[in-house]
Amino acid sequence: MAIMITDWCINCDTCIDECPATAIVSANDSPLAAKECTYVKPEKCIECVDSSVPKCADVCPTEGAIVWDMPYTASYHQYYMDGQAQGKYNIRVHSKKGMLTPEMQPRPFRENISMHDRESHESVL
Ligand code: SF4
Ligand code: SF4
Repeated sequence: MAIMITDWCINCDTCIDECPATAIVSANDSPLAAKECTYVKPEKCIECVDSSVPKCADVCPTEGAIVWDMPYTASYHQYYMDGQAQGKYNIRVHSKKGMLTPEMQPRPFRENISMHDRESHESVL
């Protein structure tokens, strides 16, 4: 993923239009069964690597709503597959390519973010 949205989110949806990767969807459009919060598609998030800060976090009014997650790369394939099995993610299944897993479609990530901050889901800003 890259980044994830927590249950601190107030579903204001301000972040949706800011995302350059169209990775964020409202709770109503969430592919998760619970549909409780605005959701980030990990298979699309590029961590806004070309910007100074992640654009979603820059506009979010709620501290703790947008946090770091693991890089969406082959090294974390099992992490995302476990999350998928737990209902934490719902990774898109492409009609021809199959599931867009981290192994099949790795995404760019910010190398300067520590694994500690990612594992402990620290606030992005
Ligand atoms: S801007 Fe923040 S509070 Fe608003 S929907 Fe996005 S993550 Fe949730
Ligand atoms: S970090 Fe950037 S690419 Fe990822 S969800 Fe936020 S705005 Fe979209």
